[in-house]
Amino acid sequence: MEESLLEVKHLKKIFHSGKESFTAVEDINFFLEQGECLGIVGESGSGKSTVAMMLTHLTEVTEGQIFLQGKDITHAKGKALRETYRELQMVFQTPAGSFDPRCTLGDGIGESLRNMGISKKETRNRVEKLLLTCGLTPEYADRYPHQVSGGECQRAAIARALAVEPKVLICDEATSALDVTVQKQIMELLMKLKKEKQLSFLFICHDLALVQLFCDRVIVMNDGHVEEEGTPEEIIENPKTEYTKRLIESVL
Ligand code: ADP
Repeated sequence: MEESLLEVKHLKKIFHSGKESFTAVEDINFFLEQGECLGIVGESGSGKSTVAMMLTHLTEVTEGQIFLQGKDITHAKGKALRETYRELQMVFQTPAGSFDPRCTLGDGIGESLRNMGISKKETRNRVEKLLLTCGLTPEYADRYPHQVSGGECQRAAIARALAVEPKVLICDEATSALDVTVQKQIMELLMKLKKEKQLSFLFICHDLALVQLFCDRVIVMNDGHVEEEGTPEEIIENPKTEYTKRLIESVL
């Protein structure tokens, strides 16, 4: 059988503070294929962000494995981690968090390109193209994060994530902090990217309506474990558990 683009096996996260320990993620398994969009839904606190943070190495994996194109990246460091970030990028809920407030958006978007040894001029060219792809004019490269709106900053954050031409884009509540109209515009941008680029998405969202709009498959998380999985239609039309029913009723 061919390997999946991304696969997690028996992923587990225990947070420790002092003598206390808390299991935030317990034995999660899923895969993501090329060009596919997998949604992760669940109540606040169910462990969705912790999964995303383990995938992007923002928090250490306690147990289990993460495979990217068949390669075990669970504990990747140094060069291996840099290579991982070329394939796997993330967009966060608060767009300003993706940028250094003292640097222009252009510097932020181009940072990884410069780190890859690409010239200043070529980086600027690519940054301008990325801005256009994300619905912003090239002059936004010279603005600072505080000089743009939340929606514009999220567009720039998506441009930044796309700069390395990743295979997987993890969106963690990427539209949740935005008002409804702007949320719709960002969703349109993500749908355009899904259609035009060979991108796979891990789309973390508490809003099942957005997941239905965007995702091919969805997993429902409850209290750190996978409650059920299926297509959005299967989940919404025929929820198997009371938890999923409540989740659907609360957002649809
Ligand atoms: P979600 O994204 O579904 O809202 P999270 O993954 O953010 O859920 O959190 C899952 C659980 O793990 C929550 O109970 C949260 O309080 C806990 N948690 C998250 N980060 C930490 C941390 N750094 N230390 C201790 N507990 C944490």
